Amino acid sequence: MSETGPRLRTQLDGIPTYKPGRPAPAGGATTYKLSSNENPYPPLPGVMEQVAVAARNLHRYPDLACTALTGELAERFGVPASHVATGTGSVGVAQQLLQATSGPGDEVVYAWRSFEAYPIIVQISGATSVQVPLTPDQGHDLDAMAAAITDRTRMIFVCNPNNPTGTVVRRAELERFLDRVPADVLVVLDEAYREFNHDTAVPDGVEIYRDRPNVAVLRTFSKAYGLAGLRVGFAIAHEPVAAALRKTAVPFGVSQIAQDAAVASLRAEEQLLVRVDALVKERDRVLGALRAQGWTVPETHANFVWLRLGDRSLDFAAACEKAGVVVRPFPGDGVRVTIGEAEANDLFLSAAEAFRKEL
Ligand code: PMP
Repeated sequence: MSETGPRLRTQLDGIPTYKPGRPAPAGGATTYKLSSNENPYPPLPGVMEQVAVAARNLHRYPDLACTALTGELAERFGVPASHVATGTGSVGVAQQLLQATSGPGDEVVYAWRSFEAYPIIVQISGATSVQVPLTPDQGHDLDAMAAAITDRTRMIFVCNPNNPTGTVVRRAELERFLDRVPADVLVVLDEAYREFNHDTAVPDGVEIYRDRPNVAVLRTFSKAYGLAGLRVGFAIAHEPVAAALRKTAVPFGVSQIAQDAAVASLRAEEQLLVRVDALVKERDRVLGALRAQGWTVPETHANFVWLRLGDRSLDFAAACEKAGVVVRPFPGDGVRVTIGEAEANDLFLSAAEAFRKEL
């Protein structure tokens, strides 16, 4: 028997562990969780009924090909079903994209700071992260990202709107960037928060991908659709990228409950839009109130706001928690706060105001 135990891939050494948003502590005063960009609304009308029906068949494997969901998505976006690939959340699909494109010796370019899972899943793939700092106003520096492309670059993430800053990349600058990316490098437009963007100058990735075979669009049911707990996301991409995603998928990874709930959610679009509009109004209210308190907050197009608190990030998060809201600090950098129900947002705003007075 080996003294060292099973030999694990050295790529796992030093991996930053994914920190899930802290749950609201149980018991005591009401505490709101504004740390994971979840939707404060329960699942859309019709979803729970489908979930109950699907639950009766839990002794069966789900539909491996996610046929009904894939068909529904293809119709909705006006793309061939062969261009739709589903997975266990969009982070699952992102990991499949890396498995399909990148390994040791390859490079993956993305802005930093951006979605905290990128460095982890890139490292697991064995590829090397090339992190390109955000501009001073917290947006993607697409010129610097284009300049960071080398012969080793295999994939690029563009997170639009960006998590955790809420900033967006607009049509002209994105197209100019894409024109500079070699045809054999895959650009992934991660649009997890797309539904919350109301700026018409921000392009819909699905329109961008149509005449660009090296662009894949990532979407999720976790945010606007409120199905974070079910783990279902998808990509829209040309062949052979979509086919590669089907090869790298965890077999039967998307449960039947998730598939049927996603279909029911797509069919409840009217109610979805009402909820998204309400959240966007709340977001704009929170943004305005923070600025009135004197904070510098980047224009946000997602369901969260970003406060650059630097070394005060952990103190600020602790003060919020004391006031009854759990937020997400990135130590040394800033704090991301999800837009929740109005009461939660009010609690957060009072905590922010009190903290500001002490600064
Ligand atoms: N992309 C971005 C930018 C995100 O912020 C998240 C969730 N935090 C995801 C992808 C993954 O979401 P899910 O796996 O739930 O679809």
